[in-house]
Amino acid sequence: MTVRYDWQEAEISAIYNTPLLELVYRAASVHRQYHNSQQIQVCKLISIKTGGCPEDCGYCAQSSHYQTEVKPQALLEKETVLNIAQQAKASGVSRVCMGAAWREVRDNSQFDRVLDMVKDVTSMGLEVCCTLGMLNESQAKRLEDAGLYAYNHNLDTSREHYSTIITTRTYDDRLNTINNVRQTKVTVCSGGILGLGETERDRISMLHTLSQLNPHPESVPINILSQVEGTPLEKQPDVSVWEIIRAIATARIVMPAADIRLSAGRAELSQIEQAFCFMAGANSIFSSDDGHMLTVTTPCPGYDSDKELLSLLGLENRPPFLNQRSNKGVILNN
Ligand code: SAM
Ligand code: SF4
Repeated sequence: MTVRYDWQEAEISAIYNTPLLELVYRAASVHRQYHNSQQIQVCKLISIKTGGCPEDCGYCAQSSHYQTEVKPQALLEKETVLNIAQQAKASGVSRVCMGAAWREVRDNSQFDRVLDMVKDVTSMGLEVCCTLGMLNESQAKRLEDAGLYAYNHNLDTSREHYSTIITTRTYDDRLNTINNVRQTKVTVCSGGILGLGETERDRISMLHTLSQLNPHPESVPINILSQVEGTPLEKQPDVSVWEIIRAIATARIVMPAADIRLSAGRAELSQIEQAFCFMAGANSIFSSDDGHMLTVTTPCPGYDSDKELLSLLGLENRPPFLNQRSNKGVILNN
């Protein structure tokens, strides 16, 4: 199977609606053509700047539009970030994602400090991903120069559903930032959230948009909404695990070379459910030492329980920089 950029929405819908076990079998087969199915990449998210965000994303504990448990904090000191990264590396993590609750990057001393963190964490031999909000091309270039491996910017949901979740920016703003990252050799990480009140058609539409990006994002996080008290989405019902598996399997089939990351919401899944997600083509997880994924409101399984899970399933941690070639066809320097 070759990588395709011309999937029609109806084809993706047919894949999504394939009888479940057939769908998982097909996704598992595609997975084995493009990836080492014995390996899972373990990532650690560090919230380098928490809370006080001017955006109004309806799911987010860090938006200043809502009253949540999250208290705004200043940008972390580099030493703190390096210590967390060191501990993560020692626990088998090969990718560190640094997140800031910013609407966009500004060319100021805070950005200089982030660039410095990127340099130092990269020199520890870890893949570094940043998620800092919107970026222009010159800022993407500065991150590239600092050695950044990946930039995360999620589409979150379909174009059609977007404005019911976020009103302070547009879908095209999102695509524009992804395009700015693509002007560099920094790889792209972009996915979405299940459980935002979207229809099945919205999920398929989002996967369609991602599959039309040429090249595909090298990394596609599939988040499951953590309902946060105080946000407009606090009362959203849980997503069925079967829907999660369908979304993962469909993403795996339409973007076969991408890493599919089972991200937020994994703490709610049993070991058996997670194993099913790996069978459906998920090949990465986020793990944490403090029980939180990004903020206190998003639980995350710990390093020890994840080691136990991987060992139980006979899976191993993927080392960093294994995918030397980005989906763009550029050899990454390392
Ligand atoms: N401010 C930056 C941005 O939005 O691009 C980066 C940080 S933001 C917290 C990173 C991603 O986390 C979001 O795009 C969203 O997909 C995910 N996320 C945030 N809150 C979540 C929640 N309550 N449940 C599931 N996923 C969530
Ligand atoms: Fe801000 Fe990102 Fe949260 Fe949206 S998801 S409110 S941009 S931190």
